[in-house]
Amino acid sequence: MTPIHVIGGGLAGSEAAWQIAQAGATVVLHEMRPERRTEAHRTGRLAELVCSNSFRSDDAETNAVGVIHREMRAMGSLIMAAADAHQVPAGGALAVDREGFSAAVEAAILARGEITIVRGEVAAIPPADWDSVIIATGPLTSPDLAAAIRGLTGEGELAFFDAIAPIVHRDTIDMDKAWLQSRYDKRGPGGSGADYVNCPLDRAEYEAFVDALLAGEKTEFKDFEGTPYFDGCLPIEVMAARGRETLRHGPMKPVGLTNAHRPTVKPYAVVQLRQDNALGTLFNMVGFQTKLKYGEQARIFRMIPGLERAEFARLGGLHRNTYLNAPRLIDPLLRLKAMPRLRFAGQITGCEGYVESAAVGLIAGRMAAAERLGLPVFAPPGTTAIGALLNHITGGHIETIDAGPRSFQPMNVNFGLFPPIEEPRLDANGARLRGPERGVARKRALSLRAARDMEAWLGAQRAPPVAMAG
Ligand SMILES: Cc1cc2nc3c(=O)[nH]c(=O)nc-3n(C[C@H](O)[C@H](O)[C@H](O)COP(=O)(O)OP(=O)(O)OC[C@H]3O[C@@H](n4cnc5c(N)ncnc54)[C@H](O)[C@@H]3O)c2cc1C
Repeated sequence: MTPIHVIGGGLAGSEAAWQIAQAGATVVLHEMRPERRTEAHRTGRLAELVCSNSFRSDDAETNAVGVIHREMRAMGSLIMAAADAHQVPAGGALAVDREGFSAAVEAAILARGEITIVRGEVAAIPPADWDSVIIATGPLTSPDLAAAIRGLTGEGELAFFDAIAPIVHRDTIDMDKAWLQSRYDKRGPGGSGADYVNCPLDRAEYEAFVDALLAGEKTEFKDFEGTPYFDGCLPIEVMAARGRETLRHGPMKPVGLTNAHRPTVKPYAVVQLRQDNALGTLFNMVGFQTKLKYGEQARIFRMIPGLERAEFARLGGLHRNTYLNAPRLIDPLLRLKAMPRLRFAGQITGCEGYVESAAVGLIAGRMAAAERLGLPVFAPPGTTAIGALLNHITGGHIETIDAGPRSFQPMNVNFGLFPPIEEPRLDANGARLRGPERGVARKRALSLRAARDMEAWLGAQRAPPVAMAG
C-alpha cells in the first residue's frame, strides 16, 4: 500500500500517524528533530510539550476542553491515552509528566509496524508521488517549508505571528449599556449598518481604563520571538503607553457613532466588538490585541461599560505562530484547495493549544486513512467539540467586513463555537433556574448533545480504547 506521509511529529502529527496505523493504512512520519531544532523544542522526542504540562480542564460536563478530551478518548486517541497514563495531580485539570508523556507516545509509535519514522526536515513542497500528505509542522514550521507553503498560498495567507484580540460570548454583553451600530452606519459587503456592538466610556471611565492598562501585568516575548510590532497591529497597552489620547484616536475612537441609549451624550471613547463566527455567538474586541496577562485582561476589560459580566471565549495574545488563513484556504476535509493531496493538521490550521492541535491531527489522520482505504470520508457533526472546532477553522469564522488586516486568528475550543441550544429554564425537579445556574445548565445541555451526536457519528467505526501501562 502506498504510504501516507505525515510531516511533523508533534502533537498533531503523532496523533495523525497513530490514527492512520489504527485504521490499517501505512504511514511515513517525518520529524526534523533532533537533526534540526526549533526555537522552543528541547529534545528529539515526538510529541514534546514546549511549555506548560497542562491539557487544561478535564471536566466533560461543563467545559468544552473536557468535551474534546472525551471525544478524543472515544476515538482511541494516543495523545489522550499517554496523557492519562502519565497524569500528575492538578485538581480538575489534566496535567502530565512531560518526559513520561512524550516517551510513551514515541514508544507506542515505534512499536507500530505500519509507521516508519524518518528523521529529517522536509524543506519543500513534497514530490508529486507523495499522493497523500498531512502537514503538521506546527507554530514553528521550519523556514524553508514555510516559504514553500507561502509560495502555494500567497504572501498574506500564511502568518508568522498571531495578534489575538479577546473574544466575548455575545449573550454576556449588557445590551442595556451597549448598542448595535456600524461606524457612520456603513454597510460593508454583507453588513447591515448595525454590525458592531459598541460600548461607550465617559472621560473618567476612559482615564481609569488607560491607567489600568498601563499598570496591568504583561507577559514578555520569548527571546526567539523578537518584538513583532508593526503599526496597525500594536498591543493596546503599547498604544496606551504612547500617549493618553492614542487609543481615543485609534481602536477606541468615538466618531460616527451615536449611543442609542443616550443619543444626546457623546461618548468620550467607544470599544467596538465585531461578530466573529457565522453562528453569531462570539464577538471580538476590535483592535484589542494584547500582551496583558490573562487574569489582568478579564479584570481590566470588565471595567468597560457593557462588559462588566463578560465571559471570554478566548483572551488576547501575540505570539510567534505559523498558521494559515484556513477558512479561505482549506476545505472541510482539511485539504488545501489549491493542492488537495496536501492536508493540514495541528496548530498550523489556526486552532490553538496542545489538545486542539492533537484533535485536528486525529481527524486529519482518520480522513487521510479513510481516503486511502477507499472508505467514505466524513467530518464529525458541528454539534460535537471536534466538529465545532473544525467548522470554525474551515469556514465558521466570518471575515471582517472592513478593509484591513485579515481577521482570522487562532482559536481554542469553547462552547461559543457550538450551535446554540435552547437554554434550560427548569432543573431536573422542575424548579426555576437562576442566571448563573442557567449558564451551567446550558453547558451541560451542549455537552450532552455533543456526547449523543458523537456516539451516533462514531457508530460502527469506533476504535477500541488504547491500553497503556502507567
Ligand atoms: C513557545 C510556545 C509555547 C506554547 N505553549 C503552549 C502551552 O503551554 N499550552 C498549549 O496548549 N499550547 C502551547 N503552545 C501552542 C501549541 O499548542 C503547541 O505548540 C503544540 O505543540 C502545537 O502542536 P502541533 O502538532 O501543531 O505542533 P508541534 O507540536 O510544534 O509539532 C510540529 C513538529 O513539526 C516539526 N517540524 C517543523 N518543521 C518541519 C519540517 N519542515 N520537516 C519536518 N519536521 C518539521 C517540529 O520539529 C515539531 O516536532 C505553544 C506554542 C509555542 C510556540
